Amino acid sequence: MASTPDYNKDLYLPLAQADEEVHNIIEKEAWRQWSGLELIASENLTSRATMEANGSFLTNKYSEGLPAARYYGGNEWIDELEILCRKRALEAFHLDPAKWGVNVQPYSGSTANFAALTALIQPQDRLMGLGLPDGGHLTHGYYTAKKKITASSIYFQSFPYALDPKTQLIDYEGLASQARIFKPRLIICGASAYPRDWDYADLRKTANEHGAFLMADIAHTSGLVAAQVLNNPFEYCDVVTTTTHKTLRGPRAGLIFFRKDLQNAEDLEKRVNEAVFPACQGGPHNNTIAGIAVALKQAASPTWKKYALQVVSNAKALASELVSCGYKLQTEGTDNHLVLWDLRPTGLTGSKVEKIGDLVGITINKNAVSGDKSAQTPGGIRLGTSALTSRNMLEEDHKKVAQFLHRTVQLSLQIQKEAGSKLLKDFVRVATGETESAKAVKQLKQEVHAFARSFPLPGLDVGPQGLKRPAGIPEDD
Ligand SMILES: *Cc1c(COP(=O)(O)O)cnc(C)c1O
Repeated sequence: MASTPDYNKDLYLPLAQADEEVHNIIEKEAWRQWSGLELIASENLTSRATMEANGSFLTNKYSEGLPAARYYGGNEWIDELEILCRKRALEAFHLDPAKWGVNVQPYSGSTANFAALTALIQPQDRLMGLGLPDGGHLTHGYYTAKKKITASSIYFQSFPYALDPKTQLIDYEGLASQARIFKPRLIICGASAYPRDWDYADLRKTANEHGAFLMADIAHTSGLVAAQVLNNPFEYCDVVTTTTHKTLRGPRAGLIFFRKDLQNAEDLEKRVNEAVFPACQGGPHNNTIAGIAVALKQAASPTWKKYALQVVSNAKALASELVSCGYKLQTEGTDNHLVLWDLRPTGLTGSKVEKIGDLVGITINKNAVSGDKSAQTPGGIRLGTSALTSRNMLEEDHKKVAQFLHRTVQLSLQIQKEAGSKLLKDFVRVATGETESAKAVKQLKQEVHAFARSFPLPGLDVGPQGLKRPAGIPEDD
């Protein structure tokens, strides 16, 4: 074999030798994921197999275009991969290939959405999506009084629909009457923080009144949709987009499904494919497409439904335990993987509880709750059970998690009182200082870590002695 010149030596080294710093950061992050409780509703833990595919030789290949119609040579195996991935996507969502097609190249959910808008409507056409403070996503047309925030409001005219403040459910009637004035070309449904299911039939009726397209963005719930434990958007929508890394448990990417049985359906297929490439993206990330294919195989397997049912059952257990501790939840519970916890009756903000969560190893995010006065200080916390369910946790475990959360809130209240002001800065000072409550924070962290570490983390080999502590992680962590 030819000898390796200096400038190529690094190419042949494993990461731990080639780059100690990056290797150490990855080890520290694995340690954090193993030690803590991951309750971010948009996160999940992908499989070892997906991570392997994601870090494979496929990362080297350019393949602009579609299978059998590429701009580059050398794509025979890449074509096989993309065709397999498309077939698995249709299978995982129980779709008839005569009625639905799919593009598996989007880099992520946001890019999938922008490509879908590019395919469906013209610049400055009107679209409606659920407002961000009501649980919608940035890419569904979000803007503020002062600023158009995302491309979906910069390049299109958008108008939000909302929740019914009484029921905190989607106000379908309000949406229908606003649509009569606004006359959208596209209605987007789907959300990032909505604990209940969607009435797709009702939305279809409204879309039909105006000859509008109906698109579902099931980024959060796609794993549950594939398992058929939620309503089926494919029955009523023209286009369905999703991320692949949330409940679907794959690598970070997006998918766009499009109908093939509409009038001018060929046109829609062509428009979606051309919107992804060349309109919005360049070469596909083939390593990621391999990871998607691996995840979709799992999502189409007979055990997937059990996972999805467990995710929902865990979310219900978490919700009911929080309610029995006296807390208020938006819509009082959940149909899916997430719980929206309204903290306003406690007098705490989402930011403060998120902060103490970080200190005790519980990862959560502040979130607006229905009726919040200010978007800057959200009054709630969003919780999701996809990741903990992937760590084998069941209902009883989620009740323990709810008790950890209860203690986190009680500690936050105590710290807020001691801080003597409402400022986050004073709050953090007390929580991390030489105080009794800071000691209680540390104690809770020890308990959370011990609990979390008794469950496995996909991709991590934990020996009988536990995991070797990476350099840079303090002894008491
Ligand atoms: C997460 C999410 C997205 C965006 O996904 P990214 O991969 O972060 O770009 C889009 N839509 C909804 C509803 C989401 O929840």
